[in-house]
Amino acid sequence: MISKSQKENLLNQRAKVLWFTGLSGSGKSTIALGLEEKLFNLGYITKVLDGDNVRTGVNNNLGFSLSDRKENIRRIAEVSKLFCQAGIICINSFISPTIETRTLAKAIIANKNFIEIFIDTPLKICEKRDVKGLYKKARSGELKGFTGIDSPYEIPMQPDLHIRTENRSVQECVDECYREIISIISLT
Ligand code: ADP
Repeated sequence: MISKSQKENLLNQRAKVLWFTGLSGSGKSTIALGLEEKLFNLGYITKVLDGDNVRTGVNNNLGFSLSDRKENIRRIAEVSKLFCQAGIICINSFISPTIETRTLAKAIIANKNFIEIFIDTPLKICEKRDVKGLYKKARSGELKGFTGIDSPYEIPMQPDLHIRTENRSVQECVDECYREIISIISLT
């Protein structure tokens, strides 16, 4: 068996799971992709997991019931763990609204490899951005159980990183994230 650290040495990086949590439209995917690009240009190998590539593939049989949401996160955590064991930095962008689900993810991935990043954007800003028109649908009742509207979002108590996006550019947020995590994913 080739160990995780042998693979990390080959790739010259420390593999972690960077777990972005926050409301829909808070900026998780935008910052995750910006961070990936920055890291790629510096020679780091990453994989971004988000609703788009997970819900259409490995989790395409899951809906949004409470038990399906939990199963969604469980599988994402297991997949992230595999990437991590292969030496790859996994960047996850999921609302993951409850402390319980994030705790489950952390337990699967292992405490030392799980970096919780809270993308903190007030609901009113997310709703104003309404990137996918989902808040409008949730307000009109067309969409039920939407996080922040009629389903709770539990704020992380002690995130490893707390990024506020209000009145800040995407680049500023990506740079802040990069500054905070670079020592964690660097071998030297
Ligand atoms: P999420 O993945 O959390 O649902 P998205 O990244 O899809 O959110 O959407 C966030 C939207 O907010 C994007 O349109 C992005 O351009 C915009 N935005 C404005 N300011 C920021 C910022 N400082 N950081 C991240 N996104 C921002």
